[in-house]
Amino acid sequence: MDRILKGIMKYRQIDKAKMVQQFLQVRDNPTPKAVFFTCIDSRMIPTRFTEMNVGDMFVVRNAGNVVPNSQHFLDEITTNEPAALELGCIVNDIRHVIVCGHSDCKAMNLLYKLQDSEFSSLRNRRISPLRAWLCTHALPSLEKFQQFELADYQKPLIFQAETPMRRFVAYVDPDNEFGAEDKLSQINTLQQMQNIASYGFLKKRLETHQLHIHALWFDIYTGEIYYFSRQAKRFLIIDEANFEKLLSEVETYYM
Ligand SMILES: [Zn+2]
Repeated sequence: MDRILKGIMKYRQIDKAKMVQQFLQVRDNPTPKAVFFTCIDSRMIPTRFTEMNVGDMFVVRNAGNVVPNSQHFLDEITTNEPAALELGCIVNDIRHVIVCGHSDCKAMNLLYKLQDSEFSSLRNRRISPLRAWLCTHALPSLEKFQQFELADYQKPLIFQAETPMRRFVAYVDPDNEFGAEDKLSQINTLQQMQNIASYGFLKKRLETHQLHIHALWFDIYTGEIYYFSRQAKRFLIIDEANFEKLLSEVETYYM
């Protein structure tokens, strides 16, 4: 806590005045660009690695960057993630939703272990909210991973994005650079696109191309950030070699 108090003192001296100015500008002209779902992991600092600033994006974080599917929320029982989608995409008219997973994700490492029936037993879920959260909301990611594992990590996987008609093919880690848990993390990131699209209040915007869903993946080991290219059917590093190609893809299909 002392580090946080010292940090706040530093913020007062260095950043506060400038940020208050920015708050005023944003209040009069709010134009947030994205709703950004990512993991709570302390190594993930999304506003820093995207160079976003005050007013630029809404950030939603939870263990494993999971967006629960709408089928879990009947009537008025709901949770943070869909409320955040409504606040961002409907109230603030944001047109891009991004899900960003990462390597060495402790939640995904745990999800991987939940393949063990004793580890994921009802008794164990009762004493572990984290296991219960992942069992309830991330099992489709695990099931896709298991299909992939059975096919020796060779088989392309099919995911759905904005609408049931807009399915896409994904070759997950085709160069076999990552371990099983990181492959699962990439699959889990892509799986959330379908969960986002499951909410009825977004349907019209998704069908009319007013709202787009994207996947990013951050490699903690190298600091590289990947964008899932539906054209290339895989995650591509956002670097000098791929930048123009990726920019052209997002400008062509998702503007
Ligand atoms: Zn994580």
